[in-house]
Amino acid sequence: LPRIAIIGRPNVGKSTLFNRLVRRKLAIVDDTPGVTRDFKEYEARIGGRDVLLLDTAGLEEAPPDTVAGRMRASSEAAIRQADLILFMIDAKAGLTPSDRAFATWLRRQKAPVLVVANKTEGRHGGMAAMEAYELGFGDPVAISAEHGEGISDLHSTAAALLPEEPEEEEDEKDRPLRLAIVGRPNAGKSTLLNTLLGEERMITGPEPGLTRDAVTSEFIDDQGGRVRIVDTAGMRKKAKVVEGLEQMSVGATINALKEAEVAVLVLDALLGLDEQDLRIARLAEREGRAVVIALNKWDAVEDRTAARHGVQDTLMTSLAQLKGVTVVAMSAATGRGVDKLMPAIRETLERWNRRVPTGELNRWFEGALEKHQPPLADGRRIKLRYATMPKARPPTIVIFGPRAEDLPEDYRRYLVNSFRDTFDMPGVPIRLQLRGTT
Ligand code: GDP
Repeated sequence: LPRIAIIGRPNVGKSTLFNRLVRRKLAIVDDTPGVTRDFKEYEARIGGRDVLLLDTAGLEEAPPDTVAGRMRASSEAAIRQADLILFMIDAKAGLTPSDRAFATWLRRQKAPVLVVANKTEGRHGGMAAMEAYELGFGDPVAISAEHGEGISDLHSTAAALLPEEPEEEEDEKDRPLRLAIVGRPNAGKSTLLNTLLGEERMITGPEPGLTRDAVTSEFIDDQGGRVRIVDTAGMRKKAKVVEGLEQMSVGATINALKEAEVAVLVLDALLGLDEQDLRIARLAEREGRAVVIALNKWDAVEDRTAARHGVQDTLMTSLAQLKGVTVVAMSAATGRGVDKLMPAIRETLERWNRRVPTGELNRWFEGALEKHQPPLADGRRIKLRYATMPKARPPTIVIFGPRAEDLPEDYRRYLVNSFRDTFDMPGVPIRLQLRGTT
């Protein structure tokens, strides 16, 4: 379950909010005397999602040095584990120097930060909410924990910042790397599968996948990692034959992609990258999968330079989301070059998994805005305030601004490309969400 930490200086109202959000108490993690007490976790439901709330309140009284130091000591452990940080400030009191000091430190943390301006009942809080922008975490959510105001807003805003729900229950560490081998008929998918399974230590042969038309096999690669291949080739034998031509099954391809992290798009190098291949590549992009291209039948290619450039050029003009994707020239039939495939896949997967820390992300964001200002809409410049990266797999950036939704397509593309270049994520689809704020 995703973990949420509520932090802030003493008396801002953390416990009050905590009690409003908690559903029931879970076991105390570690309560042994003499051992540094760990924080407690409580079950809560935020915006329809089950989460764990981390209780740091009890730790606050312990080390009696500076307020900032105390906040930090009590929160550090919780923050390291949190998927989302609710940074609470007291709107009645306004921002204090320790809030600001704390914010500076929080900006270096990995998890997204949502500022919660508490005690805004009645007329309080307008000023502090304005001030809260200065903290650099985007729009604060104004609430009154005591009076129960603004809580539903808090629920929906917080839920949007949580990492996406995991698809499987399996422990992340134990999970095999999941690959889909996709491509049009006769590109060499079956041959590649056999070569991979033949060279590596196979665990299971072809077995039915999660969906009816997917077949999975598992092996251990030379890095010692488990790899599960979902392939669409297995059922191609059953595919309809129309006028002597085998039809690619779009449904099967989508199903295989859904089960995978990385899609290996097998191309026939003798034919280049055509509309049918692009269509499959777009499906992979749409499903948010990392892509590696296997440029197959390399043994039979005469002009290799032209073949390579042809593929990259077509991608550049027709599918910018896959700009710079790794292309592995290989021959599934002879096995030559196939050894380059797994390392390329692992590297691309790493990019797909990568979370950019909030501080680093916003340094990029500010630089990108400086280089190219957002355009005008209705005569007024669109202001973008802040970026977060709530999740990876695929990398997802959320950008906040008063009229962020009005941002035109070409500027969105600019931001995505700039992000991809800055953080070196070729072959990885990047999701950009824009959130309007008031
Ligand atoms: P699939 O429909 O994508 O599964 O394609 P297959 O694996 O059945 O291969 C289609 C045809 O291409 C077969 O005749 C293979 O022998 C041939 N083929 C596959 N890989 C290579 C390769 O690396 N080089 C050459 N020259 N032919 C290949």
